[in-house]
Amino acid sequence: SHLKTIQDELERLATIDVLTELANRRHFTDHATRLLARCRRAAAPAALCMFDIDRFKLINDGFGHAAGDHALCRVAALCREVLRPGDLVARWGGEEFVILLPELELAAAAGIAERLRRAIAGTLVRLDGVDFGFTISIGLVACGPNETLEQLINRADAALYEAKLEGRDRVVTMTAEPTTPGPA
Ligand code: GH3
Ligand code: MG
Ligand code: MG
Repeated sequence: SHLKTIQDELERLATIDVLTELANRRHFTDHATRLLARCRRAAAPAALCMFDIDRFKLINDGFGHAAGDHALCRVAALCREVLRPGDLVARWGGEEFVILLPELELAAAAGIAERLRRAIAGTLVRLDGVDFGFTISIGLVACGPNETLEQLINRADAALYEAKLEGRDRVVTMTAEPTTPGPA
């Protein structure tokens, strides 16, 4: 059972990001695919957010890499506060995160995204007696009935790009699904 403990720990480590202890990208992809399929079977809605810290390079350059790491951990902590137990959040890579919100219509998901944006904009990180604040930009999409996870992520990423262009520290919702040929 000592071996069992080690095995459990290895399995846990394979699914998390060690800095933030959020799910890692691989775990997100596996689990989100299952959650999406479940929503579809139940004819329930779902939404997906992709977000990225604004001007993160300035935090690293101005306050040091450790400060950047603290900001990443603060993001994770605020996600845990704002999100529901059944939501799935992951560190997608670098300073980019992704959230799957099962059983939520777009309007309700936009409410949660906005709460997260505001929580982060309102927090201060303190390191070595210096306080700094930061913001995030969020791209939000509703899951179309036939969309793959990859398509969803691509659309959320496009919405995130819009949010950056429009000035950052905002949620941009992409409502239109990609046009698919259907009955006339
Ligand atoms: P934008 O508002 O357009 O997103 O600008 P940005 O500065 O956030 O974007 P950019 O892609 O130029 O910089 C991202 C930085 O994130 C560069 C990289 O060194 C830093 N970074 C990535 N992973 C980590 C990490 O684990 N810890 C720290 N401290 N920095 C990281
Ligand atoms: Mg980035
Ligand atoms: Mg960034």
